[in-house]
Amino acid sequence: MIADIEENIHKKLDAIKKTDGKIRAFVDIFNDCTERAQEIAKKTKAGRAGKLAGTVISVKGNICIKGRRATCSSKMLENYIAPYNATVIDRLLAEDAIIIGSTNMDEFACGSDTTSSAFYPTRNPHDTTRVAGGSSGGAAASVAAGMCDAALGSDTGGSVRCPASFCGVTGMKPTYGTVSRYGLIDMAMSLEQIGAMTGNGKDAIELNRKTLEVIGGPDKRDAQCNYSIGKMTKRTHAKPPTIGIINQFFDACDKAVSNTVMRQVDKLGYEVMELSLEETKYLIPTYYLIMCTEFASAMQKYDGYKYGQKADIAKSLAESVSEARSNHFGKEVKRRILLGTYVSMKEVQDDWYTCALGVRKALTQKFEKFLGEVDLIASPTMPTVAWKIGEKATPTEMYAADILTVTANLTGLPAISVNAGEIGGLPVGMQLMGRKFEEGLVYETAAMAMDK
Ligand code: GLN
Repeated sequence: MIADIEENIHKKLDAIKKTDGKIRAFVDIFNDCTERAQEIAKKTKAGRAGKLAGTVISVKGNICIKGRRATCSSKMLENYIAPYNATVIDRLLAEDAIIIGSTNMDEFACGSDTTSSAFYPTRNPHDTTRVAGGSSGGAAASVAAGMCDAALGSDTGGSVRCPASFCGVTGMKPTYGTVSRYGLIDMAMSLEQIGAMTGNGKDAIELNRKTLEVIGGPDKRDAQCNYSIGKMTKRTHAKPPTIGIINQFFDACDKAVSNTVMRQVDKLGYEVMELSLEETKYLIPTYYLIMCTEFASAMQKYDGYKYGQKADIAKSLAESVSEARSNHFGKEVKRRILLGTYVSMKEVQDDWYTCALGVRKALTQKFEKFLGEVDLIASPTMPTVAWKIGEKATPTEMYAADILTVTANLTGLPAISVNAGEIGGLPVGMQLMGRKFEEGLVYETAAMAMDK
């Protein structure tokens, strides 16, 4: 419950004024939200306020808010004004949340550190020479720097959890199919979910759960979204849970990161079971093959005619489309369109894409088996702490950092990142992955970790 709604919004706007010049978490700030705060304060006094009354929320730049820009931090959509609200936005507004602005991200959500934004990189509030993580870097930084109470991000391969880990906040990717993607500008449809990011600590975890309850649940405008949130976010286990640790996941991390997270796992006091995933080396190629194929297809609509910056119609169709795409997409987006188009070509499809689908299926079965033996799987969220801006020199170096997060997307499982401590002043995230629709246990364990 927000005690003083008007004071809260002014505090957040002041924090933006003071720090966002340096952090650059936002692309657009909605200063007119103070009027909404006044209305909601009145409603609260009259005892008619919704579940999130006065909660100040930032929204990632790929989620549509009617009448506002949804840029995806791309030149291609720099002037795109969303004509409708995403379902998650309608639901937040119906429960009296206040949307404070649209946040920066990697262009079209392609990246792990928000440096591929066409506008500017977002800086980590814990050390402004370092990245905030990505692709929802603006979202995480806006929460970590006290510029909002919660943020909406999207997670296709780790984009909520990675920046949550780097900025020391909480980030949840819910079970696939529990939150509507209607109004989310798609990156790779079979992998992504919208998720909430909130601060650090027990209250923040509770707010995260509450936000998921508000945004989640069936939506007839998203054919995949048929699952009721109902009891899912509440505790579902009577027995003390067992926690699994995948040895290869810990081995893939910096020693100090592994040790920090292992200490936190031990402190939970659950029975710990070691697991082995020989397929770990296939995770990155499998994710990138599937994601790029779906991404290349999703990007076809930006041709300068249907969507995106206007093509020069004086030129031939091929020339004008090619020019619009060449001029307005950044390097990383182009790289993925090329890769995805290539691997889905009829001639080579079976060598790459079909193969990746096979691994995805095997992986899903493997995790079903794991989660028959244990109730949760814990690991670090990222193999390192936040790196310096510009430090990742090659795309493959950047891709490798997603090794611990992509599994939850490939298998559809829920996964949270919570703060597990710091190394040299930089936050370390612990990831907890649960069974489908068992967000309740994930949240409960995350909250328990806060007590230890
Ligand atoms: N880092 C991953 C990628 O670059 C994840 C992206 C995401 O979740 N949107 O593909």
